[in-house]
Amino acid sequence: MRPLIALVGRPNVGKSTLFNRLAGRHAAIVEDVPGVTRDRNYADFIWDGRTLSVVDTGGFEPESRDRLMSQVRQQAQLAVDEATAVVLVVDGREGLTALDRSVASMLRRSGKPLFVAVNKVDTARTEGEIPLADFYELGFGDVHALSAEHGRGVSEMVDAIVEKL
Ligand code: GDP
Ligand code: MG
Repeated sequence: MRPLIALVGRPNVGKSTLFNRLAGRHAAIVEDVPGVTRDRNYADFIWDGRTLSVVDTGGFEPESRDRLMSQVRQQAQLAVDEATAVVLVVDGREGLTALDRSVASMLRRSGKPLFVAVNKVDTARTEGEIPLADFYELGFGDVHALSAEHGRGVSEMVDAIVEKL
């Protein structure tokens, strides 16, 4: 089986944007499972001659805060169970939220390679302004400031992931 990279995190942090950037125009939905997994999109992409898979989680519209919490955690758990490596996507401009921390502590128990994508860091200037140390506090080895929208920092993170597969 090819390595599967899961993108998890709360809504609006940029998971789907990162998924599309990785999958590019060759994005192919290779699985569409009803039920709790209905919003999961899978795609294959080629990196340095190697075929990898990526799964985007979420896509739901939770009707309450509690429901949001449980759905994000449930999606993250499903992703962790099947993934080779997990990327927790967070919003670098908003900083860490309680939900980010809660998902992170769940992920830490998985024993899988974990990466933090600090997204929406569109410029070097933004990177200088955000406290990256806060994100290291999550206890994941790898913290990558990037911009899913503009592509900044994305290839560096994928290189780091590939090294640990
Ligand atoms: P998801 O809910 O985690 O899948 O997030 P989306 O990929 O749908 O993105 C949520 C919003 O954040 C959209 O308006 C995106 O255009 C925006 N966004 C995503 N990535 C970036 C980024 O790198 N920089 C900026 N400035 N906005 C971004
Ligand atoms: Mg999405």
